[in-house]
Amino acid sequence: MKEYSIAVFPGDGIGHEVTPPCVELMHIACDKVGGLNLSPNTLAAGADTYVQTGTALPATSVEQARAADAILLAAMGDPSVRYPDGTEITPQIELRFILELYAGVRPVRSIPGVPVPLGDKRSADIDFVLIRESIEGLFAPEAKGTLTDDSVATETLVITRDVSEKLFNATFKIWQKRQKQNRGTNRVTCVDKANVFGAFAFFRKIFYEVAKGYDAPSDHAYVDAMAMHLVTRPWDFDVMVTENIFGDILSDQAAALVGGMGYAPSADIGDNHAVFQPCHGSAPDIAGKGLANPTAMFLSGAMLLEWLGDKHDDQHALQAAELIERAVFKAFASGTLRTCELGGNSGLADVTKAVTSALKELAV
Ligand code: ATP
Repeated sequence: MKEYSIAVFPGDGIGHEVTPPCVELMHIACDKVGGLNLSPNTLAAGADTYVQTGTALPATSVEQARAADAILLAAMGDPSVRYPDGTEITPQIELRFILELYAGVRPVRSIPGVPVPLGDKRSADIDFVLIRESIEGLFAPEAKGTLTDDSVATETLVITRDVSEKLFNATFKIWQKRQKQNRGTNRVTCVDKANVFGAFAFFRKIFYEVAKGYDAPSDHAYVDAMAMHLVTRPWDFDVMVTENIFGDILSDQAAALVGGMGYAPSADIGDNHAVFQPCHGSAPDIAGKGLANPTAMFLSGAMLLEWLGDKHDDQHALQAAELIERAVFKAFASGTLRTCELGGNSGLADVTKAVTSALKELAV
């Protein structure tokens, strides 16, 4: 029996609501498959923790997360809780820097039965991965912005060869895996603004250097054009990689293509650690009302199991991941489950019940 320790950060707001059913679902999937067991360890961090202790990300939580086999994080932050300088509490971003999680992997896949904004029937074919560089770019901590005399503000964007090479290697490995699974349109696209900024010309140059080590059809697109392509023909894309702030913006846009933030899972992956979390935030407007859609959290749990499976060559973990994904698809397939953010009445309890029942019915 393989035992995996999972550091769990429920965080704030709806994070507290979507975490327990996700952990429960992961246990059910593992029990069904057999051969592996998860030991979750709930850790403190976030805006609530800051209010209670004066620290948003306690050192003990970081150490326990570092020691775990994988990290599951729901959502952190609360616009009403801020540091003295007025900025919001964002320990989830700090964790990316501390654990060097350079690749933000955001799969975007339509779920049959979930209404999508693009009417075209090809919306059913949307299945791409957006990879967001996650520790530098416009978010680089060493490039803190300045404000001089209340008249000039500056920010610095940082691209390094070291992180870019790792990012692109991770990108092409994702393409390789999708090729083996017969998924995608077989292309890897670097999204940048190389026509205007030297930093992005450098980013693209490294992309094509790394591409030489792989047999992947590789191309590039400007970020502004990509914003348009994602609305007019998202089904044409397969694996995309981009800088931090561009990825931040495009990933919310991409989530909207498949139903919204409640359907968008993600993983922040580094050489040694990985954090799995839904793309959405703590959503204080709906927290405590039972309206949160846990689907993105469930799919993030599935990504965690898949990552463990790949890392440890553990077929049981891979099977458990696949079961959760199939259960989500089965639960939504009939179209009767309609979540609140899409105008329906299905809240947290309804979605949890439907996905859990689907999981229990599935054959391994
Ligand atoms: P952050 O800056 O922390 O990423 P955000 O500004 O992107 O947060 P979110 O909290 O992600 O904001 O979500 C924006 C809005 O979308 C929420 O206020 C909420 O109404 C809705 N929303 C987000 N996640 C969900 C969910 N899982 N289920 C239902 N509605 C959601």
